Amino acid sequence: MEHVRDLTLLPKAHLHLHFTGSMRPSTLLELADKYGVRLPDALTAGEPPKLRATDERGWFRFQRLYDAARSCLREPDDIRRLVREAAEEDVRDGSGWLEIQVDPTSYAPLLGGMIPAVEIILDAVDAASRETGLGMRVLIAANRMKHPLDARTLARLAVRYADRGIVGFGLSNDERRGMARDFDRAFAIAREGGLLAAPHGGELTGPASVRDCLDDLHAARIGHGVRAAEDPRLLGRLADRQITCEVCPASNVALGVYERPEDVPLRTLFEAGVPMALGADDPLLFGSRLAAQYEIARRYHAFTDAELAELARQSVRGSAAPEDVQAKLLAGIDHWLAT
Ligand SMILES: [Zn+2]
Repeated sequence: MEHVRDLTLLPKAHLHLHFTGSMRPSTLLELADKYGVRLPDALTAGEPPKLRATDERGWFRFQRLYDAARSCLREPDDIRRLVREAAEEDVRDGSGWLEIQVDPTSYAPLLGGMIPAVEIILDAVDAASRETGLGMRVLIAANRMKHPLDARTLARLAVRYADRGIVGFGLSNDERRGMARDFDRAFAIAREGGLLAAPHGGELTGPASVRDCLDDLHAARIGHGVRAAEDPRLLGRLADRQITCEVCPASNVALGVYERPEDVPLRTLFEAGVPMALGADDPLLFGSRLAAQYEIARRYHAFTDAELAELARQSVRGSAAPEDVQAKLLAGIDHWLAT
């Protein structure tokens, strides 16, 4: 029998995971019970909800489910539990580095304001990192449905906490709303403060949204970016500049960006030399975690173990992990492939 290497043992970095979206389904049920929250049926069915975010209504439904789940995070203990469990799940899937992304605005009202929310989140990340041994950092993500001035405020806040574990600044929510360039000042503040620019683009809308992230926000990484596959010149640009795309195959299929796992253009990006960091995005809603994304590359796109190892290297190189952490993970990847 042919020996198949275990993908949960392949060291990798996880660069695209949202805060509430990282929650274990069982934890959501427990927290809902604790606070007497009646969850939408789609969140209690025991299987991932059927979503289709390719139109605004579908996206709105996805956001509503996300908001319902978030409403169950009310106390610092809930935040600590969420982050610790996210770290545990990542370790189980072979992650050696996790960058988790959060918009503190959404948590601030229940946690006593923006500053307390950020402090509670960063303390939780510190604690989870110590308890699990997993290197962890935070990306602060602005919401493109809100006013660009809110994004600037967030960028300043993120910069202020750069030495406490914030490494990047993102932009999430519906790409069809507003223009990337509306947020150019916020991203300038973040970049000048030493943060990595990692906005979402090329998920719900096509290659133009990826170009906007590069031109207007000077993105160093792109959240998703898969739709760049529709434009060979853009692929060339991403490859030349080694801009890592945080590709989330299970999420793409769950949200209807692509019909089937085999339709996610992993091969196209890989062959074009665009670095990728596979990510789970919102495992709570999409039903699969980090290693499963590599499994999709293996099963539906015939990535060999050598190619899967290269994908893992790309995730590490695209991360904000310090040199020594990267070196250790890269050595671990070589070891995985050699045995
Ligand atoms: Zn995302």
